[in-house]
Amino acid sequence: MTNPAAAHPDQLSPDTVVVAAGRPAREHDAPVNPPLVLSSTYVGTGQVVDGDRAYGRYSNPTWDPLEDALAQLEGATLPALIFSSGLAAASAALSLVPVGGVLVMPIHSYQGALVMAQELAAKGLFTLRTVDIANNDEVIAALTGAGEKAADMLWLESPTNPMLEVADIHVLCRAAQAVGAVVVTDNTFSTPLVQKPLELGADVVLHSVTKYLAGHSDVILGALATSNPELRATLLHHRSIHGAIAGPFEAWLALRGLRTLALRVERSQASALVLANRLDTHDGVTKVLFPGLPSDPGHARAKAQMSGFGSILCIEVAGGAEAANAVVEALCVWTPATSLGGVESLIERRRRHANEPDTVPENLLRLSVGIENVEDLWNDLEQAFALAAPGASTVAPDTEASETPAVSPE
Ligand code: PLP
Repeated sequence: MTNPAAAHPDQLSPDTVVVAAGRPAREHDAPVNPPLVLSSTYVGTGQVVDGDRAYGRYSNPTWDPLEDALAQLEGATLPALIFSSGLAAASAALSLVPVGGVLVMPIHSYQGALVMAQELAAKGLFTLRTVDIANNDEVIAALTGAGEKAADMLWLESPTNPMLEVADIHVLCRAAQAVGAVVVTDNTFSTPLVQKPLELGADVVLHSVTKYLAGHSDVILGALATSNPELRATLLHHRSIHGAIAGPFEAWLALRGLRTLALRVERSQASALVLANRLDTHDGVTKVLFPGLPSDPGHARAKAQMSGFGSILCIEVAGGAEAANAVVEALCVWTPATSLGGVESLIERRRRHANEPDTVPENLLRLSVGIENVEDLWNDLEQAFALAAPGASTVAPDTEASETPAVSPE
């Protein structure tokens, strides 16, 4: 007997899929969870023919349930491909740009992917056109080439890391399609529970599984999902030949983390909205970047293409980089660390990274809201602001909003 997610994947809500997908077949005494298989090789021909596993760099039974679950969640008709990290997945995805081709990428893409693309472009492999991804006209001009060569790939990230700009995914996918460009969308910030890029027209979805999908800051892993057999075959070949494969234990841990994704996302999104609204009226904050705020330039687009607004928000701290650093140092509940998407709330000043583009303000703090009690998170921020910038005061918290967490204030 198969499990329900395998039997009726289209009829189940994603909240159920995260729990039910990738379970072993229901047989008497079968384990409820997929086993962890630690083997570098398999008995057989040693050739990857007729579905033989052959060797551990080509496949592992522990990868399969996670790859099936991620494909179901993203709406891909083929199993996803997991990689040793999100950046390894990005490397495979960038290999789809032909030599001499053109890549269009947001200037505020995740900086690791941006640096990789810049380095490949500097070696002469392709031309890189960086764009403000929120500006449709600018992106479409970069895609068509305005007299120069048209693009071969559009890289999307929405909302972007860390500026939280929102791309018009459907419109930009159509524009990319018109010039024959492949669209890769980094869906790490939104998760497939909040945004489905393949449904909006993207060809490939990328995840840093490290973040929300695994969710506990104990795994580094990446994934790509596509319904296009040729693209998948090329990406699989890249993984097998370049060797950026997932460890089986990481894959097993990520699937275990995925089981609670719906609860974690629901809680952290609701808290992020509460905190964004309160920070928006705090004297110590000059600007809040969060697509959930009606005043945010990406709000209407986010509402149209996402089912929530995510759990990352950014603030610009009054008093510059020094004041921002002081706030981070004074926090007790929030952990000062890079990364995001774990159960614990993390905060960092992004410009402390040398590679961060200088269009990211020096005083910008990125907050990854976790699943702690929202009042504890708020109180900690308040006491940190009071210590770091004693003049700054706040309006009374909106208790109604905190008691009834809503995904959208409207
Ligand atoms: N994409 C985004 C949006 C990220 O934030 C990150 C890492 O922070 C990555 C990709 C890279 O993922 P990994 O750290 O798993 O290599």
